[in-house]
Amino acid sequence: MLANSLVELDRRHLIHPLSSYRGHEQVGVRVMRSAKGATLTDSEGHQLLDGFAGLWCVNAGYGHESIVEAAAEQMRRLPYATGYFDLGSEPAIRLAAEIADRAPGDLDHVFFTLGGSDAVDSTVRFIRYYNHARGTPQKDQFISLSQGFHGSSTVGAGLTALPGFHAGFGVPLDWQHKISSHYVYRNPVGSDPATIIDASVAELKAKVEEIGPDRVAAFYAEPIQGSGGVLVPPAGWMKAMADTCRELGILFVADEVITGFGRTGPLFASEEDGIVPDFITVAKGLTSGYAPLGAVLMADHVYQTIADGAGEALIGHGYTYSGHPVSAAVGLAVLKLYEGGLLDNGRKAGERLMAGLHGLSDHPLVGDVRGRGMLAAIELVTDKDAKTPLPAASEPSRRIFDRAYRNGLIIRAFGNGAIGFAPPLCCTTEEIDEMVARAGRVLDETL
Ligand code: PLP
Repeated sequence: MLANSLVELDRRHLIHPLSSYRGHEQVGVRVMRSAKGATLTDSEGHQLLDGFAGLWCVNAGYGHESIVEAAAEQMRRLPYATGYFDLGSEPAIRLAAEIADRAPGDLDHVFFTLGGSDAVDSTVRFIRYYNHARGTPQKDQFISLSQGFHGSSTVGAGLTALPGFHAGFGVPLDWQHKISSHYVYRNPVGSDPATIIDASVAELKAKVEEIGPDRVAAFYAEPIQGSGGVLVPPAGWMKAMADTCRELGILFVADEVITGFGRTGPLFASEEDGIVPDFITVAKGLTSGYAPLGAVLMADHVYQTIADGAGEALIGHGYTYSGHPVSAAVGLAVLKLYEGGLLDNGRKAGERLMAGLHGLSDHPLVGDVRGRGMLAAIELVTDKDAKTPLPAASEPSRRIFDRAYRNGLIIRAFGNGAIGFAPPLCCTTEEIDEMVARAGRVLDETL
């Protein structure tokens, strides 16, 4: 009764993010009612293993009392404090300091946002300001990768390279350029790591030359391309790109909105990649999805240039909710969990997940298995030798999602036939094994 009326209210009034409005009107909403650990319960009482941690964000799993308590305590004491007018709050200051302490290299300065898209937007504004401050305002062109995702604000959607975020929206903007993804499974230069790295470096250099060597401000890349289908670059790819950016005098932004906070093992994937980007963007795992929060980590040399350039003038960038004290208190509580065993558990569970998914390699539909830590995908094909993608018309991602749902599993089915896994880092061995077993059943039903 309740569920039925909610379905109707939803159909009439709630616009869902990233959905087909007409398609959604037909299928209706599935309402999530509660959750604990890695298990969701919907309004009809179905239990589902969350193989996607919400939207790659609930890294700690659901129902952590220590996080709930931190939020409630902060709400009682001080539910809001602005960062404007030289004011502030203790949780925001402490969280900035804790993040800076753990970030690679000299990424010592933290600007808080509400999520990933506005973190990406903020980097663009900061980078433009930086170039004005250092007397190179003509450096106003930005490059990102095919298959990349950097949010769905107007600026971020233009850096994003997924067609659904462009068509009809008037993006990319004319200062936003793309180079090819490393997409190892389907790279025209083949799958040899060194060849792929050389090709990407050469393409970046050629693109900078084409745009004008003194025009390019920055290059953006995710350490693992998430929404593009969990595309893992060859080891050394991020380092080679970061080094090339330095050589070319352009800033390097690592978009760690998905990979940050333990998803690939360490707190930041950049650590494992051995790089110190000029900016890192984070969100999602920062609060484990318990409250909205994102952040821009800014290198000291960029901060000093911006600060010197502005002098006493106001730098006109900031949000009402930048450094929201409740979200920041949640971030501090989550950080304690990461360091109290969650990162370690995630590493072990990630190994189990990858081993389990590799165990599905012989399935006739599985063309590729890839991933790092608790971030993985299998890519489905109809012919393994020819790598023929599933015909999109007969296997839209919604059908695979539905099949998984019926099997008690939440996964993400991407348009390119990849199925993504990003379970909470708290998963037990049994939960990981069960997710893989259910995924296997989904594949059998897809045959
Ligand atoms: N950047 C990356 C790499 C993402 O994966 C996402 C979201 O999935 C974003 C930015 C945008 O984050 P948000 O949805 O919090 O705005």
